[in-house]
Amino acid sequence: MKRILIILLAFFAVQLQAQDLTHYKQIVKELSSSKYKGRGYAYDGANKAGKFIEKEFVKAGVDEVICQPFKLDINTFPGKMSFSVDGKKLTPGVDFTLREFSPGVKGTFKLYHIDTKNYDSEKLFADLARPENHNSFVVCDFWFSYKHTADFQRLQSKDGSTNAGIIFTWTDPILKFYKAYGEKVIDKPVLWAAASFPADAKSVTLDIENEFLKDYECFNVIAKVEGKCHDACYVFTAHYDHLGVLGKKTYYPGAHDNASGTAAIITLAAHYAENQPEYDIYFIAFSGEDAYLRGSEWYATHPIVPLEQIKYLFNLDMIGDNNPVQYCEVSDPGMDGFKLMEDINTANGYFKSLNRAELAGNSDHYPFAQRGVPCIFLENEGGDAFKYYHTVFDTWKTSYTDSYAPTFKLVTDFIEKY
Ligand SMILES: [Zn+2]
Repeated sequence: MKRILIILLAFFAVQLQAQDLTHYKQIVKELSSSKYKGRGYAYDGANKAGKFIEKEFVKAGVDEVICQPFKLDINTFPGKMSFSVDGKKLTPGVDFTLREFSPGVKGTFKLYHIDTKNYDSEKLFADLARPENHNSFVVCDFWFSYKHTADFQRLQSKDGSTNAGIIFTWTDPILKFYKAYGEKVIDKPVLWAAASFPADAKSVTLDIENEFLKDYECFNVIAKVEGKCHDACYVFTAHYDHLGVLGKKTYYPGAHDNASGTAAIITLAAHYAENQPEYDIYFIAFSGEDAYLRGSEWYATHPIVPLEQIKYLFNLDMIGDNNPVQYCEVSDPGMDGFKLMEDINTANGYFKSLNRAELAGNSDHYPFAQRGVPCIFLENEGGDAFKYYHTVFDTWKTSYTDSYAPTFKLVTDFIEKY
């Protein structure tokens, strides 16, 4: 009898784990689908994803779900998105992308290639001032621009030079669209072209539309599972927004960044809704992260429970990779907890190791770390999915589920012991 019970319990334990992984996969797949348009601001992609997440929390059986609105100004590219070089059509996201603060542009333009080997700032601007070079697009290696930032600022401003815009070329075959955050629009279009852009190109034809959204309303989704005690709480955070669209057809799926972390906190909410925790637990899906931590900044300045009550905060951002070494950042007050987490990890071998680096202000734990909250940022980076970071190739198919179970076990064990 006892043996049957053990087998049954083992069966249910496996069942529970398998159930979570299935649920996790479903959510990552859903959020990275075309339905949510890259979870940006054009076509209300992020807000549609937020509504889906709200429903998922309710289905998970949590005690309460709140949507917390906030506003942002943001530049988007919802419309036309065509770019040809010497008559050859380029593919958005693959052959080219735009800087987040770029205005739209329409027309055919001559190209002016900057001579990076014999660079002479004075000669460049004198050359561009000649009538035959008026209204041309300047082409230059992106990294070179870092050596002459003042000149490139000038090339971007309408009073600084007569060029129509800038095309930065990359030696990288995969184009990375580093940020979604355009809180303003600059004077001239700035594009990025992949390594496939011909070095001797003569002209480009562009038809690109931008739309600047002023005071655009988006929202964080906050779910609560009540514990036995209410004077302290744990918090799980993950951002659900991503980079949005490049025109009508191309979107940034963001499976690894960060459908993965969002899916994980929904399955954690379901787990705790079934197994009442000692303390209250909040699950916060932030919007506006890839627009420079806007949702988490808003929450940290408008918390629904005082930040001092947080025993520990776990920020899961990008756990859809396959590196057996787990990257993390920890706030100073979180260091005691981190030691416990390392012990748990070593004892159980969830990850090969936890690789802790200094705090950097690039994910949602940061506004909390700055305010003295004990917190950890868990990101599985540097595996096979990392090369697709902030590209249109960050899809359900190129992301991994390897680090989901170890992350889940690590944080749930921690909450039991901390
Ligand atoms: Zn991101």
